[in-house]
Amino acid sequence: MTSPRQLSVMIIGGGIGGLCLAHGLRRAGVDVTVHERTTARTDWLQGYRIHINPHGSRALHDCLDPAAWQAFLGTVSDAGGGLGFATEQLADLLRLRGEEIADSAEPAARHYGVSRLSLREVLLSGMDDVVRLGQDFERYELLPDGRVMACFADGTTAAADVLIGADGANSRVRAQLLPHAAGRVDTGVTGIAGKHRLDGPLAASLPAALTDDTNIVIPAGEGFLFTAVWKHDRRAVAADPAMPAGFLLDNTADYTFWAYADATARFPADVDALAGQQLTALVLERTRGWSPALRQLIEGSDPSTVNVVRMRSAVPVGPWPTGVVTLLGDAIHSMTPMAGVGANTALRDADLLRRQLTAVSRGEQQLVPALADYERQMLDYGFAAVRESARNTRQAGSASRMGRAAFRGVLRAVAAVPALRRRMAASIGG
Ligand SMILES: Cc1cc2nc3c(=O)[nH]c(=O)nc-3n(C[C@H](O)[C@H](O)[C@H](O)COP(=O)(O)OP(=O)(O)OC[C@H]3O[C@@H](n4cnc5c(N)ncnc54)[C@H](O)[C@@H]3O)c2cc1C
Repeated sequence: MTSPRQLSVMIIGGGIGGLCLAHGLRRAGVDVTVHERTTARTDWLQGYRIHINPHGSRALHDCLDPAAWQAFLGTVSDAGGGLGFATEQLADLLRLRGEEIADSAEPAARHYGVSRLSLREVLLSGMDDVVRLGQDFERYELLPDGRVMACFADGTTAAADVLIGADGANSRVRAQLLPHAAGRVDTGVTGIAGKHRLDGPLAASLPAALTDDTNIVIPAGEGFLFTAVWKHDRRAVAADPAMPAGFLLDNTADYTFWAYADATARFPADVDALAGQQLTALVLERTRGWSPALRQLIEGSDPSTVNVVRMRSAVPVGPWPTGVVTLLGDAIHSMTPMAGVGANTALRDADLLRRQLTAVSRGEQQLVPALADYERQMLDYGFAAVRESARNTRQAGSASRMGRAAFRGVLRAVAAVPALRRRMAASIGG
């Protein structure tokens, strides 16, 4: 035991992880500020669906105050869809129905689909006293009194006992703290993603598998396709008087999101420069002979939603001597989206750091050992998630027919054996 101290924490980056940590620390009475580069609440407009797993739900539940947690629950996608693994003809290898994937009864341990935009709204809501927008972090200096000072592009500075780099995949905090770390490397796999609206006449002819379920399409040959559904009852939110005024909800229609991935070498060298229509044509070319429904999903997507997703991944970093500057989320363990766990791992970091820093402020732990303990755990599970995402990415980019045939065989076997099927459904339902 040490004595309680008035701890001050400065978070660089108001993304998913940084804002979640700020909520948790403010709730615990710790003095916290967030310094975010973007200037407006609407600057974070990448509108895609994020799958929140039980790690993410637990972190949000434990960090947010009850009203913000309710606001989060009010913005999640309608639940209930199943999960299918299918051939390129959309023939089921294994399809788990929604009711088979028994999610936890406890809201804080469930899976959710959430709009990245709405999640940011929830996380920024009521945080005007904590979040400083338009503060572009450049570097930090360690001060003689043991504190740390951040310097921003506009010439201003701020000082605190601890600085947390939550500034995403191209983190400047990481570049200064760990200059030896290689940052991110290209995985050799490229994705093209788009959205098909579910409110237009075209949607009526899509099969239920594509309008209700999440799908992983494993063709016999090259390529890979992922689809997921975003459905949200906006009327319930609009009618809820507890929702903060001016709440900016994802104002797109319900949609099916899809992402096609393959080895970068099999795409044109200028793929990054292609417009939505050209990218759509490229995916249609690469999926020639696939099921008409899958091709309709791609062809019927609004070209303005179709873009390239670069699959980059952090290189594992060993432990470093702990000081008063540390990192969370994509700033340290950035990963490809192919396991759907980047945001969940950032949220898990936020929750763990909240607990450690709260214990320091209560005098239950010393600052540096508490941060060292955080870094040890975070590097362990964070880079396990990076490896899992990299493995999925490599498989999506592999053209090994044997590997694919074996995987398809395993899925068919799971589908046919009730005990295996139940075990798989339980592992997904968490
Ligand atoms: C297409 C796609 C789908 C995905 N789907 C999922 C999914 O289903 N599930 C999942 O768990 N993850 C998913 N992810 C990954 C997830 O989005 C990231 O892992 C997550 O956003 C990381 O959170 P973070 O807080 O570490 O960083 P970010 O959310 O990137 O936040 C970093 C913040 O730092 C700010 N910043 C950067 N530099 C500075 C600076 N110099 N000064 C001040 N501020 C700065 C940025 O403006 C930003 O607000 C997906 C990613 C993509 C691309």
